Amino acid sequence: MNDVLLTCKNIEVSFDGFKAVDGVDLELRRGEVHFLIGPNGAGKTTLVDAITGLAKYTGSVTKDGEELRGKKIPHIARKGIGRTFQTATVFENLTVAQNLDIAAGAGRSPWSLLRRRKHLPQQVLETMERIGLADHAGTDAGILAHGQKQWLEIGMLLVGDADVLLLDEPIAGMGHEERETTGKLLHDIAADRAVAVVEHDMDFMRANASRVTVLHAGAVLAAGSVDEVSTDAKVQEVYLGT
Ligand code: ADP
Repeated sequence: MNDVLLTCKNIEVSFDGFKAVDGVDLELRRGEVHFLIGPNGAGKTTLVDAITGLAKYTGSVTKDGEELRGKKIPHIARKGIGRTFQTATVFENLTVAQNLDIAAGAGRSPWSLLRRRKHLPQQVLETMERIGLADHAGTDAGILAHGQKQWLEIGMLLVGDADVLLLDEPIAGMGHEERETTGKLLHDIAADRAVAVVEHDMDFMRANASRVTVLHAGAVLAAGSVDEVSTDAKVQEVYLGT
């Protein structure tokens, strides 16, 4: 069995008494691409916000035996939990290589990052290959295609040594080929990490999910393999209204 890297128990997030996330349990395992799906407003993004320290919650999130509830965002990131956003947050005026170099040196002195480097660290070179941007090392991130920015953002988590990656709709706005490439990338990086993907696209989910959790009205409606959740009567009712 793949080992569990992140455990969420009974997570609740309330906004003025409205429970956006209502008692969710979730386990993210190394080796798996775990899809979080559900209709708009189901609580997917809020759950990710809770895990990454952006939203206050009750319940428990643990990694390596450490309780993360109440911990600050940088601490949670240093524990190896990284996320991407629907609109990639990269440094637009810096090159692909510089973006990765900065992410790799997140703990280093800012002055050392300003020095011009003769050689990029091996980790940055390997990551550029991995995310398919080796030919764009010197390209400003601001002029990358939408999909390439998403890959760069994922690369920044990889060089920062995240082993739990939470990706918010990574294929939004991508064409067919870019989606295929992203699917392969997700499996490649999940080989030795846990990857969770918030997604609307059911075809992409069916093609790439190792495991699926369906959220509805803040709670887990169903969880399991693609086959298990697709044949679940409650899931069919929510998605097809049958
Ligand atoms: P999803 O990502 O599944 O579309 P969200 O997590 O964005 O759903 O939202 C879940 C529910 O919580 C929605 O009803 C949304 O309107 C509400 N919500 C999200 N963020 C806030 C907030 N900051 N303040 C009040 N309500 C919020």
